[in-house]
Amino acid sequence: RGESHIFEILASPVTANGQVTGAVILMVDVTEREERESLRREFSANVSHELKTPLTSISGFAELMKEGLVEADKMREFAGDIYKECGQLIALIDDIMKLSRLDEGSEELSAERVDLYDLSQKILQELTPVAAKRGISLHMEGGRQTIQGVWRILHEMIYNLCDNAIKYNKDGGAVTVRVTEEEDQVVVSVEDTGIGISEGQQDRVFERFYRVDKSHSRRVGGTGLGLSIVKHGAQYHNAQLSLDSEPGAGTTITLRFPKQSAA
Ligand code: ADP
Repeated sequence: RGESHIFEILASPVTANGQVTGAVILMVDVTEREERESLRREFSANVSHELKTPLTSISGFAELMKEGLVEADKMREFAGDIYKECGQLIALIDDIMKLSRLDEGSEELSAERVDLYDLSQKILQELTPVAAKRGISLHMEGGRQTIQGVWRILHEMIYNLCDNAIKYNKDGGAVTVRVTEEEDQVVVSVEDTGIGISEGQQDRVFERFYRVDKSHSRRVGGTGLGLSIVKHGAQYHNAQLSLDSEPGAGTTITLRFPKQSAA
């Protein structure tokens, strides 16, 4: 099919009466293992880089303060910068832990009935102060819909979508969460009136640490992992994830959960 594969070859001679009469050759397709390994290496390299960026700033600010190079009236400003960079580090470590928990599936997760309307409403309430700062209005549509799932992961997923819908919105914009049903699926969509994502970038935004505009993402406190967490959480719940976006007009991200979720 035009795909390249990586094989590991193990060979062992077959002997009879002290003479080599043949050989057993085993070819193992290790393509998937190698790909996983390479993704893991890339992820570790990215993590180190992402952790280093805020730490370098913190260390720089602290050094200037230590050397007495910061005037008294600038001290608060510097402390504020250090505090902000620490916040970035904490958010990053939180997201890395969420992703690795999802990856390993190590935790004992208990699935329960979760009302996605109720959950979304709670998330919008949590985000109200952030949205209000920029005059962004938050709306709910639809009604009560329950699925079988893991509350904490579902909260992380919908929270990340709503958080992005605010972060990448325009001042005075709107965010609408709809919870509806379609045949045998429960559908949650998060729509914003924000900056949108160009077609070429739409698949890439679900990759770990991929950001359309790195400095914008950093400015709004992004880690580059939010949508990867959504993607993994969707896989965990056997949900379909789709994105529809128009640059300059807005983005809608939709999750379709099977009504009899297998989580
Ligand atoms: P981040 O922490 O940077 O927000 P995410 O994984 O959540 O990381 O998203 C990846 C990138 O996708 C973001 O940096 C941003 O460029 C883009 N993005 C995500 N959600 C939206 C949205 N609702 N509107 C526009 N761009 C978005």
